[in-house]
Amino acid sequence: SAVTEQLLSRIRDIPDHPEPGILFKDITPLLNDASALRAGVEALADPYRELGVDHVVGLEARGFILGAPVALELGAGFVPARKAGKLPAATIEQSYDLEYGTAAVEIHSDAIAPGSRVLIVDDVLATGGTGRAAVDLVHRAGGTVVGFSVLMELGALRGREKMPDVEPHVLLSV
Ligand code: IMP
Repeated sequence: SAVTEQLLSRIRDIPDHPEPGILFKDITPLLNDASALRAGVEALADPYRELGVDHVVGLEARGFILGAPVALELGAGFVPARKAGKLPAATIEQSYDLEYGTAAVEIHSDAIAPGSRVLIVDDVLATGGTGRAAVDLVHRAGGTVVGFSVLMELGALRGREKMPDVEPHVLLSV
């Protein structure tokens, strides 16, 4: 579609970042472009407008940038999911496997009330480890995951196979 083409034209490929052999998808040109930023935020929110979303969980750090305006679009509150050790109050933590080692994401324990309807937002779905951890965190908090909305999916990394219980909404598949 026209929106897809517009968004895709604002994604920049950065070879060998953050390490040799990785082709990093840089979304800052999209954020920089007022029209693309608005179109992207609206498209991330669109499928969820009538679904009664109470909270948007945004994944550090680019999921914060996109998630907060999506929350405004949906009339929902915003919950930051941060890397371990950053949030100031009591947290629940979910760790997940990386290629080498593990990582963890946290939310505040009181951020999601039991029964809360939650949309998770991030910029890129790669291996799916981060998204899977976010879904598990919401479930452990007693919330219902209404969806997982991302700007871009790196299809070759097959991240969506890690979340058969949540159909990701993806604006761009590369
Ligand atoms: P995953 O856990 O492997 O799915 O990686 C997804 C997380 O890593 C997301 O939070 C993304 O922000 C980040 N990420 C992975 N690859 C890229 C990329 O090429 N561009 C931007 N972010 C990326």
